[in-house]
Amino acid sequence: MNIAAQAPHPFLDGKPKKLLIDGKWSDAITGTTFPSISPVDGSTLADIAQGGVRDINLAVSAARKAFEGPWSKTKPFERQAMLLRLAELVERDFHDLATLDTLDMGAPISFTSGRKTRAVGLLRYFASAVMMINGDTTGNSLPGDFFTYTLKEPVGVVGAIIPWNTPVTAAIWKLGPVIATGCTIVLKPAEEASLSSLRLAELAMEAGIPPGVVNVVTGPGDTAGAALAAHTDVDKIAFTGSHFTGQKIVQASARNLKRLTLELGGKSPHIVFADANLDEAAQGAAMGVFVNSGQVCAAGTRLFVERKIYAEFIERVADLGRKLPVGHPLDPSTQIGPLASSAQLERVTSYLDLGASEGARPIMGGARLTEGDFAKGYFVPPTLFADVKDNMRIAQEEIFGPVLSAMPFEGMEELVERANSSIFGLGCGVWTRDVTKAHTVARAVRAGNVWVNNYGAMDVQMPFGGYKMSGYGRESGRESLEAYLQTKAVYLRF
Ligand code: ADP
Repeated sequence: MNIAAQAPHPFLDGKPKKLLIDGKWSDAITGTTFPSISPVDGSTLADIAQGGVRDINLAVSAARKAFEGPWSKTKPFERQAMLLRLAELVERDFHDLATLDTLDMGAPISFTSGRKTRAVGLLRYFASAVMMINGDTTGNSLPGDFFTYTLKEPVGVVGAIIPWNTPVTAAIWKLGPVIATGCTIVLKPAEEASLSSLRLAELAMEAGIPPGVVNVVTGPGDTAGAALAAHTDVDKIAFTGSHFTGQKIVQASARNLKRLTLELGGKSPHIVFADANLDEAAQGAAMGVFVNSGQVCAAGTRLFVERKIYAEFIERVADLGRKLPVGHPLDPSTQIGPLASSAQLERVTSYLDLGASEGARPIMGGARLTEGDFAKGYFVPPTLFADVKDNMRIAQEEIFGPVLSAMPFEGMEELVERANSSIFGLGCGVWTRDVTKAHTVARAVRAGNVWVNNYGAMDVQMPFGGYKMSGYGRESGRESLEAYLQTKAVYLRF
């Protein structure tokens, strides 16, 4: 796992990282910090301010003050210009942002840097969306003369709680609509990957976004995150993360009945019919779960293969998986880096043991890598379990690791029922040359995203979100903006 000595990252200057509240960088009130740990070797990358309840209170007050101040009077042109400036800065510094994520949570640099178009595109999309925020003039059947119309207004102070798997774009997913609609934000990044959110906040200030509009409080989920979710002066929580935490956020938000958007986990079916282009399908099935080591909410983790090609097809997928270079995430040829944290390593390896004990057959991978330098980090190779049964826990629970469960199927009716037999409904992939089969699956599956003859494509103009316990609300696309807006009905009698 050799990697040439890298130039030190400009953001990792040895100084503790601070909270951003009301345009000022400050230590946590308690003065405590927590370490950002390298998943490659367990070393400390930086110390980060450990925000808690009181820091959240300050940040929410700052966000409220900004929301009620001149910010609410900004013209659409001004907010659009800020988003466009931020897009330019993110484009300028994307390599640094991507490298921070790679160092912080271990995703290969080929993956993190490959998200540039998406990150910049999201900001430009929300910049153009500023101009789409309009109410309606409605008809009415009231007696007398009435003019009725609706106004679209920002929902207010938004608490954004994001995960560690795609940190920069997760933060932009929340920041973009906040600025577009004229809301303000308190962003709580994940403990495992806070650095790029802090750097993004610096860029937001450089873009001229006023103090208090963007606040960042780093710290633990069960204190800082929970305080944000419970705070009665927060109008909305935009959350991306596990469904377990999603449930806690729903409960915490009840006190003031906050608006919620929840983008949660998945156990997405990936379906291959015998008539598909099998070379492409095998590549899609492999990368649908092994990209970012499976730490992707929409990963295609349940592979359903038509029985007559099952044995041969899963061998092909395994072959591709075995060839994926595992290594240092900064090495441009690496496809599989370490998992993000020791907790994640523990969780994924416990599922590897569970799969074997449930009677599934690992045809590749199946155990943590421990030779040489790998022993210091959190490396798990691509793993494919064959002969999985629908009711096994490895086929039902979200693992969030490079673990694929393969199962044969016979016919459409049985397939649809099994594909839908999950508490989740985030994604579904289907490979076939038969347009009828493609449409049948696309309609029958209860999932927010369906990919036909591809897996995981995402576009800024398309809504992303889940059915069932994969959450509610949509990110990006027209629908996402609505979640940051109130609608006011005005009756004017004349
Ligand atoms: P994971 O288990 O993969 O870390 P989580 O859903 O727990 O995923 O984490 C996603 C985000 O939710 C992180 O920013 C984390 O700090 C935050 N979080 C965790 N627990 C809570 C909680 N009780 N309330 C609010 N946020 C939380």
